[in-house]
Amino acid sequence: MTKWVYMFSEGDATMRNLLGGKGCNLAEMTKLGLPVPQGFTVTTEACTQYYEDGKKINDEILAQIMESVTKMEEIAGKKFGDNENPLLVSVRSGARASMPGMMDTILNLGLNEEVVNVIAEKSGNPRWAWDCYRRFIQMYSDVVMEVGKKYFEELIDKMKEEKGVTEDTDLTADDLKELSAQFKAEYKSKLGEEFPTDAKEQLLGAIQAVFRSWDNPRANVYRRDNDIPYSWGTAVNVQMMAFGNMGDTSGTGVAFTRDPATGENKLMGEFLINAQGEDVVAGVRTPQPISELEKIMPEVYKEFVDITEKLENHYRDMQDMEFTIEDKKLYMLQTRNGKRTAKAALKIACDLVDEGMIKEEKAVEMIDPRNLDTLLHPQFDPQAIKEAKELGRGLAASPGAASGKVVFTAADAKEWDAKGEKVVLVRLETSPEDIEGMKAAQGILTVRGGMTSHAAVVARGMGTCCVSGLSEIKMDEANKKFTLGDVVFGEGDAISLDGSTGAVYAGAIATIPAEISGDFGRIMGWADRFRVLKVRTNADTPEDARRARELGAEGIGLCRTEHMFFEGDRIDAFREMICSDTVEEREAALEKILPVQQGDFEKLYEALEGNPVTIRFLDPPLHEFVPTEEADIKKLADAQGKTVDQIKEIIEGLHEFNPMMGHRGCRLTVTYPEIAKMQTRAIIRAAINVKKNTNLDVKPEIMIPLVGEVKEFKFVKDIVIATAEEEINKAEVKLDYEVGTMIEIPRACLTADAIAKEADFFCFGTNDLTQMTYGFSRDDAGKFLDSYYDAKIFEYDPFAKLDQVGVGSLMKMALDKGRPVNDALHFGICGEHGGDPSSVEFCHEIGLDYVSASPFRVPIARLAAAQAAIKASK
Ligand code: ADP
Ligand code: MG
Ligand code: MG
Repeated sequence: MTKWVYMFSEGDATMRNLLGGKGCNLAEMTKLGLPVPQGFTVTTEACTQYYEDGKKINDEILAQIMESVTKMEEIAGKKFGDNENPLLVSVRSGARASMPGMMDTILNLGLNEEVVNVIAEKSGNPRWAWDCYRRFIQMYSDVVMEVGKKYFEELIDKMKEEKGVTEDTDLTADDLKELSAQFKAEYKSKLGEEFPTDAKEQLLGAIQAVFRSWDNPRANVYRRDNDIPYSWGTAVNVQMMAFGNMGDTSGTGVAFTRDPATGENKLMGEFLINAQGEDVVAGVRTPQPISELEKIMPEVYKEFVDITEKLENHYRDMQDMEFTIEDKKLYMLQTRNGKRTAKAALKIACDLVDEGMIKEEKAVEMIDPRNLDTLLHPQFDPQAIKEAKELGRGLAASPGAASGKVVFTAADAKEWDAKGEKVVLVRLETSPEDIEGMKAAQGILTVRGGMTSHAAVVARGMGTCCVSGLSEIKMDEANKKFTLGDVVFGEGDAISLDGSTGAVYAGAIATIPAEISGDFGRIMGWADRFRVLKVRTNADTPEDARRARELGAEGIGLCRTEHMFFEGDRIDAFREMICSDTVEEREAALEKILPVQQGDFEKLYEALEGNPVTIRFLDPPLHEFVPTEEADIKKLADAQGKTVDQIKEIIEGLHEFNPMMGHRGCRLTVTYPEIAKMQTRAIIRAAINVKKNTNLDVKPEIMIPLVGEVKEFKFVKDIVIATAEEEINKAEVKLDYEVGTMIEIPRACLTADAIAKEADFFCFGTNDLTQMTYGFSRDDAGKFLDSYYDAKIFEYDPFAKLDQVGVGSLMKMALDKGRPVNDALHFGICGEHGGDPSSVEFCHEIGLDYVSASPFRVPIARLAAAQAAIKASK
């Protein structure tokens, strides 16, 4: 029989997959002898089973849950629904990977009218009893019955107003009792049934709600962003309550063993006296810093500090902990490796190595490559920032610089972002419903909430700049306005945030790029020692190439030459080429482009300092280049000695119904060999010049796109070789070059053995290969991918993260067919996937020689490649 439920005393930290992160760490803390309220964990497998059984908890699982309830009652010496000694529990979700705020928790479960009276009387603290009850009804209604928090919050606000108080803690037992009655009435009016009174019924309702919450929309979005598979499921923890809301000798808080924003090695945290559960995080009141606890309850503080040290030494990583003090008795409710900013992650990893806690290999493994993104993003220009007007300072909740237009709702942020506007989301506080809007924003500014508020935690996770708790803001959400200092901001007004200092500025401020140094440099240095894959970059300009070199690129994996045709007056010459009637006319036009293109390549080779440069021949359909403006058409007509109508006719003739599958790639060379000749000349002449002038060893790699048939490849290659040899002979130099192909059409994979005989290299163009394999246009897929996520057909965007099953099989096939035919053949990838960590890991596994990523993703690819190699060596 499967074991679906584990008591905390039966598990440990190695059982994360089964017990979830929260559950396995509660078990581990129990094992370490720490004060943990006891309970049990229903496994992640039970969650999967629940879905397999059509969203039902089957009898076997049910029986095991009930058995465990009995065991827990024995440990506690209390019983569910008892009139002497009633047991109250929390029901908490916990997946393998932590998903802060994504799923729901219910506290004080087990209460009903009778039980409240029992605990009120026995404790002599009716305020506490009724506070528990109203919280329970509120959370249960929200989570289990999805009634919605808002109604209850409105009722609380109304009550506070009637009583003339501002804080929840000022409400009396009678007020809270009255609120509980109102809540229950609200529940009944919304659901048409009484609030459940039976503890076991409440418990099953809550467990099912946690299972259900695995599938809620915000959890689905979070998983997609964090590479967490749907199939993992969540565990459910049922735990005896520790009460932080019993009065002035009780409280609740959260703490980190190191600063999650900077990585500084000092205990950091916040707590609230006489509070429960999420009060600290939700920003109900402004919490006190953890150091204050030393003054209020010195013994508890000392015990807590000892535990934090013990935990950090045990896990050998920064811990994020939740605790509750019930009448001066400390309870640990959670510990986990804390989320942190990228900067903090690097510092902590380096410090742990220096402190002898971990090895360098572990330090490399500890950094989430996706997080590096933030460090690679711009900071404010120091000059511009000096001149900027600072309006106020909140908490520096998540670093980075953000400039954008003010929006007031998550929905607006999403909508404006879709229109291509950069926005800053300004809110009183954020909640998990805001997640998509937060993602769409450049930065997030909140009026309320501390360093551990929802906004702060989520923004750090996403690497989005965030300033929280700027309480001087006078917010008028209803009218989409707020005042800060003497400035009134409305929707669409420009604002800038510095997430590293907490400063807020009026207007948009210029930014500058980041650089790799210090801890970042050390980690990257270690990563380079472990990785096997080379990392190149996709760069079209010398500036991009230099940037990528600084970020560690070891070559160019893809230079898209079409971008070079748009600049300045080149486009005119190119349009002349397109609208030519004869080969001679075309050649004349191309002759004008040749020297400029050659100049570009020279700069590119120089920027790469002798590292490999792969240049791809012109790829997009020609009609993308033709003029659309009347004036441009006229200009072209004049240059060509044609009439406007004649030009329009030519343009008309270039129209394609399905240009992605149309006249592009190597097909252009088949119809216009002159283009390939010109590009070859430019590539070879540039190489000869740079070799002569700089002594750099230049070896161009010429890449022919969109090949699906070896004869296509051979046709273009013959032109390249004939032209190149002519140039080389004329210059009387020695120059090596390679001619390879982009593998981006399924047929190229299917016939890779034939192509391998002719090609010097294969570079997987996985953008097109994904498009062609799925038969989805990558420009249109965005319109229906959301429905695919909702229907669970896709869990992620295959254009961002490689489809290893389908596209990956084609890649493997190409390798398997190509390798035996040609020893010298080398392999790379230059689609977007080259900078995606899980895709990089796949590339390592199948044995590519290099990945090529956009410049800013080069460090991410380096780290991901190192992690793949470390993982594979284990
Ligand atoms: P999350 O994963 O969102 O942090 P948790 O399950 O940790 O959710 O719980 C939410 C809040 O309730 C936390 O502050 C936690 O410490 C508190 N809490 C959970 N279980 C208990 C309990 N048994 N006693 C007291 N507080 C609890
Ligand atoms: Mg929660
Ligand atoms: Mg928690």
